[in-house]
Formats: sequence, C-alpha cells, structure tokens
Amino acid sequence: MAKGTVHFVEDRCKACGLCIEFCPRDVLEFDNESINILGYHPVVLTKPESCTGCAICGLMCPDLVITVEKE
Ligand code: SF4
Ligand code: SF4
Repeated sequence: MAKGTVHFVEDRCKACGLCIEFCPRDVLEFDNESINILGYHPVVLTKPESCTGCAICGLMCPDLVITVEKE
C-alpha cells in the first residue's frame, strides 16, 4: 500500500477538525499535549504507518497547514 509523509505547519492550525473528519484511515487527532501560537491543540498524525499519502487532509485544510509527500 502507498505511504505518505505528512507535514504540519502547526501554528496555523485552528483546530476546525476537517482533516480529521475526512481522513479515510482515521489517523489524525488533536494533540492534547500541546498548544499552538493561536491557542489551539494542533492536529498530529497518530499512526504514520497507516497513512496512505492520499493527501485528502491537505486538500480539506482551509489554512494550508498540511502538505503530504507521497513515498
Ligand atoms: S494523507 Fe490521507 S491517510 Fe494520510 S493523514 Fe492525510 S488524509 Fe489521512
Ligand atoms: S483542517 Fe487544517 S486547520 Fe483544520 S484541524 Fe486540520 S490542520 Fe487544523
């Protein structure tokens, strides 16, 4: 199965949850351990091994937080 590496500009994340909602592999979550410059818990990838690199998360993000490199 295809894999991807997901990069986050976490200080831009406004925690809207769209990327989490639309990830077909259910591997994105809010990071309750950290707070970004905007005062939100930013999104993190919880299971990198399950990410297919489909880049739907990057397409859905209205704030250009996410870029995906396909491997
Ligand atoms: S690239 Fe696809 S599988 Fe990977 S985190 Fe984004 S939406 Fe989920
Ligand atoms: S869609 Fe973008 S702004 Fe919204 S939670 Fe995901 S990374 Fe953050």
